[in-house]
Amino acid sequence: MARLLAIGECMVELGDAGSGLLRKGFAGDTLNAAYYVRTYLPADIDVAYLSAVGTDLLSQEMLAFIEAKAILTEDIRQIDGAAPGLYMIHLQDGERSFSYWRSASAARKLADDAAHLRSAIEKADTIVFSGITLAILSPEARETLILELRRAKAVGKRVVFDPNIRPRLWEDAATLRAVVEAGARTSTVLLPSFDDEQVHFGDADPEATIARYRQWGADMVLVKNGGGDALLSAEGSDVARISPPKVEAVVDTTSAGDSFNGAFLAKVLAGVAPAEAAAFAARVAAAVIAHHGALVPIEHLPQA
Ligand code: ADP
Repeated sequence: MARLLAIGECMVELGDAGSGLLRKGFAGDTLNAAYYVRTYLPADIDVAYLSAVGTDLLSQEMLAFIEAKAILTEDIRQIDGAAPGLYMIHLQDGERSFSYWRSASAARKLADDAAHLRSAIEKADTIVFSGITLAILSPEARETLILELRRAKAVGKRVVFDPNIRPRLWEDAATLRAVVEAGARTSTVLLPSFDDEQVHFGDADPEATIARYRQWGADMVLVKNGGGDALLSAEGSDVARISPPKVEAVVDTTSAGDSFNGAFLAKVLAGVAPAEAAAFAARVAAAVIAHHGALVPIEHLPQA
């Protein structure tokens, strides 16, 4: 059976529920992408998540939540005495801001055990990770993960990377750029967002982002660009432009890029041509930003 493995951090999300109450949820870029992949992927392809959590009640709840989304949790390590990271969403005059408690999260240890990583990756045909996955790891664990992904790429697996650049998670700008480059060089499919790439790599336009990642070895690069056209470069075809649908009322942009990635990959894995898959992904992302929350229920999403 074919399998997609997403690697990263799922956090506990605390959102304002009014009257001083908080609503608890679970989210994280790679988990969000796994959710949207699972939503659109044929049932004969497995979706699994690799991370690390604790053994506490909150970690148990997180595992149950992931399983309830039909995502396999067998590759999530449970570490005694560790606990998940947490973030809180503040809503002020319609603007969202975030506080994070993640500096000691269990997920930071997700790549500490090379043998565990290797056996999980061996079971998968497609591996998905992000710049956030790399940013939260120790320098040694980053190397371990990149080494294992390089093995995966070498044996012909599809390795998918969204640089998802969050400068606050990195120790400095030079490390950010060096590790994102190393992550890209070990990948076959790149799913960057132009606004991040422009700031951190100085790309003049999405074409420059494509050229840089192609030069670093990607077979396919799909550059997201907010409400502007996404640009797709795939081996053997001309660059394609994908215009996102007009969204009249943007309610919450959380997970726009993650849902785009997930829907795109689901279609590509199902054998749909990349340009068509990207157009579908743009429709899904448009629906996601018209609703609250990272994981928008299926009834609000476009049909497969
Ligand atoms: P990220 O959320 O990762 O920063 P982007 O902001 O580039 O990524 O958005 C990802 C995708 O979400 C875009 O490629 C597009 O399809 C969709 N999207 C984002 N903002 C808008 C918008 N204002 N109108 C329509 N689609 C949008």
